[in-house]
Amino acid sequence: MKLTDLNSAQDIGANCLLVEIGSFHILIDAGMHPKRFGLEALPHLDGLPPLDKVILTHCHLDHLGALPVVLRKQPNVEVLCSPASALIARRILRNSVSVMMRQREETGVSEYPLFTYSELDRVQGVLREMPLLKPRVFRATDGSEISITLHPAGHVAGAVGCLIEHKHRRIFFTGDVLFHDQETVPAAQFPEGPVDTLIVETTHGATPPLDGVTRAGEAARMVATVNETVARGGSVLIPAFAFGRMQEMLVMLNNARRNGTLTPCPIYCSGLGLDLADYFDMMSRKKGFVNFRRSVLQELKVMPLNQRFVPPGQDLSEKGIYLLSSGMLVENTPAWRVAANLLDHAHNTLCFVGYCDPDTPGGRLLSRKRGESFAFKGLDYVARIKAHIEKFHFSGHASRDELIDFARRCDPRAIVLTHGDPPAREWVEEELAMELPSAKVTNPVPGKTYLI
Ligand SMILES: [Zn+2]
Ligand SMILES: [Zn+2]
Repeated sequence: MKLTDLNSAQDIGANCLLVEIGSFHILIDAGMHPKRFGLEALPHLDGLPPLDKVILTHCHLDHLGALPVVLRKQPNVEVLCSPASALIARRILRNSVSVMMRQREETGVSEYPLFTYSELDRVQGVLREMPLLKPRVFRATDGSEISITLHPAGHVAGAVGCLIEHKHRRIFFTGDVLFHDQETVPAAQFPEGPVDTLIVETTHGATPPLDGVTRAGEAARMVATVNETVARGGSVLIPAFAFGRMQEMLVMLNNARRNGTLTPCPIYCSGLGLDLADYFDMMSRKKGFVNFRRSVLQELKVMPLNQRFVPPGQDLSEKGIYLLSSGMLVENTPAWRVAANLLDHAHNTLCFVGYCDPDTPGGRLLSRKRGESFAFKGLDYVARIKAHIEKFHFSGHASRDELIDFARRCDPRAIVLTHGDPPAREWVEEELAMELPSAKVTNPVPGKTYLI
């Protein structure tokens, strides 16, 4: 097998792997780099050979965001994905076009949008959903065959890992993986038994596991935090990714409401999260390894966010829980605007429930202490931080020890590292050298082709 990492850097960026197996050319994911702008955010797609298949592991933009650009040059290549991803891919890309159009206005990046709404029809036309855990054989024009099986990967609704079998060789790509159940997505179900080559994500490689922290424990702590805030007459802002984390928080709050542990209070949600809740309901009905029912919104009496502009610094008169995108409090999003209302008032709380990059407003806010100032660029407003700020641990990625455990069970001859920042890859590489000394570990340099 030949493998080329087309991501522009050795980080969690524009995920895109070109693999050559026999006469097959397969692209695994075509993502957009979350921290780069314009054409720089794309993977290296120049010189891409004619592809036999694209496999889409899941619909986060760092895996999906450049797919329309790939399809512009190769409009007829089939994109294999889970039934849940086939449902939601176009909706996520549509939101990406909107964000790029807004960025064009705000930053003047003239290349934006990198693709248009009309190109999304092309994407929908070539998505081929595959039932999970069922191998499918594909034949090349020269008669050679490969078998592809998609395995549920936990992580987020629709996420899969991918087993490719060719001439008795087994190659497994984890994609982004979580080995524990979430409220809306069951744990990964990866293949048993040895594989020859393992391509593994390394997101948490540099993060030692937190002792005693469990998802259930964090959920209980969050409910207690909400109750304390409501009791002192404040509001709670939960900035959450609209795709996945927001639906998980809704189920979590509804469970707490059902068992009587959540103090009743109004819940407001932003438009995209509510819209995606409909998609989660459809995914769930397709038996797509997703557990979510739209009725949760009615049971919680969720209301759409009032779009009326309240000047920054002025507390919101409607008290309650504001479950809004974006998870990192990115500028000009619903969560960012509400944060500008809540931050300067001591009875309010901001609950961060996902990863915040240090370069985002969410990351910057988490590094500040109470009493310090915080600037809302674009609103011409500087807040004094008086609200409570809490961080909860609801990761969608496996811990580093679980990744090593899985690698040990696979007992591969070759391992390729992906989806991690350099220190994360370094830790995994060193650990694998001790745990699996006979395996050849490759930390691929972008653009370089390896014979694995
Ligand atoms: Zn992901
Ligand atoms: Zn990812």
